[in-house]
Amino acid sequence: MDYRQELKDKKKIVIKIGTSTITYPETGNINLDKLEKFVRILINLRNKGKEVIVVSSGAVGIGRNVLGFSERPKEKAIRQACAAVGQGRLMMMYEKLFAEYSQLTAQVLLTKESITNEECKKNARNTFDELAAMSVVPIVNENDAISVDEELYGNFGDNDTMAAYVASLVDADLLILMSDIEGLYTDDPRKNPNARFVHTVRYIDEKLERMGKGAGSAMGTGGMATKIEAAKVATKSGADMVIANGANICAINDIMAGKKIGTLFMAERENGRKII
Ligand code: GLU
Repeated sequence: MDYRQELKDKKKIVIKIGTSTITYPETGNINLDKLEKFVRILINLRNKGKEVIVVSSGAVGIGRNVLGFSERPKEKAIRQACAAVGQGRLMMMYEKLFAEYSQLTAQVLLTKESITNEECKKNARNTFDELAAMSVVPIVNENDAISVDEELYGNFGDNDTMAAYVASLVDADLLILMSDIEGLYTDDPRKNPNARFVHTVRYIDEKLERMGKGAGSAMGTGGMATKIEAAKVATKSGADMVIANGANICAINDIMAGKKIGTLFMAERENGRKII
């Protein structure tokens, strides 16, 4: 059974894109070429009858660039202010690009409470349902400007985890994380020449989690360990998850064509069928 081929038929897809994919690392400016291609790919998926939900990072990175900080500010309040500026700029870019295809978008900003508080969770789910019924593409980010202290209330910490919760909340079939790593290796490929690439993960067990901690945890913003945490949430909710390198944004098309790109974490299945 080639599970990759099954990805062709996925209907509800959450796609997460990281800051390093949509901005130039050297300058922090938006990579317009990439963002344009990304939007075109999303529109094309919609033209094929798919439902897409975008989880986009970039608020802090774009905000600090607009405000003239050469590095990521250390002070949290400044980062939050950057996010408040950057989120507006980010949405402006998405709106502009989607408008070229007459596609409406909606900004949805979540906090950890949106998932942990049952009332908030119900409201969030209703909003996503209505947006889907209205054929509007949600563009989701963490509400970084007010995301409160981790110790007190908790926050998602990174958009990989948040995207997995979104996938679970909307009952997505597939979560694609466009990241700054190719996928999962058995060990850190920069240190171990014998490290092998893992194309498919059927079960997330302790061995795999240990692998994730060692393998490339320094690569990428969230690191591999957080991606495995995300995979646990997504696969448990019945969604397949693929991690691929956002350097080639067209990889989304290849994934949707059933090609062996990135690492596929298979949704939890019983007797070959999905549990949920
Ligand atoms: N929410 C953050 C931002 O938009 C990014 C978090 C992440 O990339 O994991 O800047």
